[in-house]
Amino acid sequence: MAALEVRGLRKQFGGVVALNGIDLDIGTDQVVGIVGPNGSGKTTLFNVVTGVHPATAGTVSWQGQDITNIGAHRIARKRLVRTFQQAMSFPGLTVDENVRIAWEQGRMGGSRWASPGMILDFVGLAPLGRAIAGSLPFGSLRRLGLAVALGVSPELLLLDEPGAGLNDSEAQAFAAVIAQLPPQGIGVCLIDHDMDMMAELCDRLVVLDFGTKIAEGPPAEVLNDPKVREVYLGP
Ligand code: ADP
Repeated sequence: MAALEVRGLRKQFGGVVALNGIDLDIGTDQVVGIVGPNGSGKTTLFNVVTGVHPATAGTVSWQGQDITNIGAHRIARKRLVRTFQQAMSFPGLTVDENVRIAWEQGRMGGSRWASPGMILDFVGLAPLGRAIAGSLPFGSLRRLGLAVALGVSPELLLLDEPGAGLNDSEAQAFAAVIAQLPPQGIGVCLIDHDMDMMAELCDRLVVLDFGTKIAEGPPAEVLNDPKVREVYLGP
């Protein structure tokens, strides 16, 4: 049984069908990439899975429990955690303080990290611990966003465009940190437009088009699928 099991997930916004019956399984030992053109439903999938928006139909189960529509806060407490494109931290506090606040929150049910310092080491921010979060360069701010999300001890982390706005070397360094998560028992599901990064990082790609899953499998296979090429390159 996969940790996350999505079945027949449907989401309508008025007359717009954003998700049209999605099935998806994700384990905590995997990096799964969600790709597809703009408007294909990627962000909506994250929003419905994490309870930001209610599902119109279908189910989301997490570690064997039905969590469909139980609400974003309750879902996050179950260690199914998402990040947003904009890192949500306290800009006036130091890097250390930001991570400590998240770590204190996550400690309640038992943290995988003995101290917040371990998280800073893990994401490569230890030398910047005393820096004010709001003064960090963009690449480091993105790492801080990851550190804050890790602070609450996720077992599955949903990352919405972690590479957006990063230059090539920052994106590569960030991908290297993400690749270290599944060996720690933290599954990753991410949305990103950088296909080179996705192909390298992901064990599996899921391609959405108009709210429907049109392909799923190892990146090399999926990116050569004629249906996928048509969506990206046109007929
Ligand atoms: P993607 O992340 O792949 O770009 P989205 O999930 O953002 O796609 O959008 C899928 C579809 O749902 C689009 O047609 C979009 O306009 C619509 N949509 C997304 N969020 C909302 C919302 N809050 N209200 C109305 N329509 C929405």
